[in-house]
Amino acid sequence: MDAARRSPEPGSIDTEGKPAPLPSGESPAENPALPLLEAPTLVLNRSWIPIHTLPARLAIGLVARGSARIIDPRNYEAHDLDSWDAISRARESWVECIRSERLSLAPLEVIVLTGYSGVGDQTVTFSRLNLYRRDRYTCQYCGARPGSKDLTVDHILPRSRGGALSWENCVLACVSCNKRKGSRTPAEARMTLLCEPSTPHWRTVRRFPARPTYKSWEKFLSKAYWEAELSE
Ligand SMILES: [Zn+2]
Repeated sequence: MDAARRSPEPGSIDTEGKPAPLPSGESPAENPALPLLEAPTLVLNRSWIPIHTLPARLAIGLVARGSARIIDPRNYEAHDLDSWDAISRARESWVECIRSERLSLAPLEVIVLTGYSGVGDQTVTFSRLNLYRRDRYTCQYCGARPGSKDLTVDHILPRSRGGALSWENCVLACVSCNKRKGSRTPAEARMTLLCEPSTPHWRTVRRFPARPTYKSWEKFLSKAYWEAELSE
């Protein structure tokens, strides 16, 4: 997206208009029409732990204020807008750039915050979506992954017997396991849970796009998931 026409000051990028919310999981790869300024940028905290994604225009704002640096995914060097502009111009013939009057920026795939080392809000809401994410869209009795439409939320101790709607008492079950279990406990139905259900670690349910927008994200995200599993 050429932002030059809308930039009143040299160097400023897309200061007009209300930010459009980025649909979940949407990315340039999935939606080629998604403007570069709206494409998600992976945000790492000061310790290089991924904490969320932001539309590129907000990431550029953080870098412009000195709150973040752009990571070159090829060599992990950190850049400000001017040095990223120089690198981008060298790549301009083969990379579509975000342009303003002064700057030409290759897509910001990853930024690292300069001051913040926390991990943001770590509370995990008990929601259907987060339950699906915790259980990795897998039946917790037989291990089947039939797709979200054919997965149900099973109350381990049935609701009819006082079972709570909670992280500890709810798991995903495929339709046939749920039917087989009926209104019994797993022990009564002689069924075994694949693992003991508990409140998930925030990293396992953190809202990253379902698929990495850029290849370079895989290293950071898989590292985060790996660590999350170790610490649980
Ligand atoms: Zn099953």
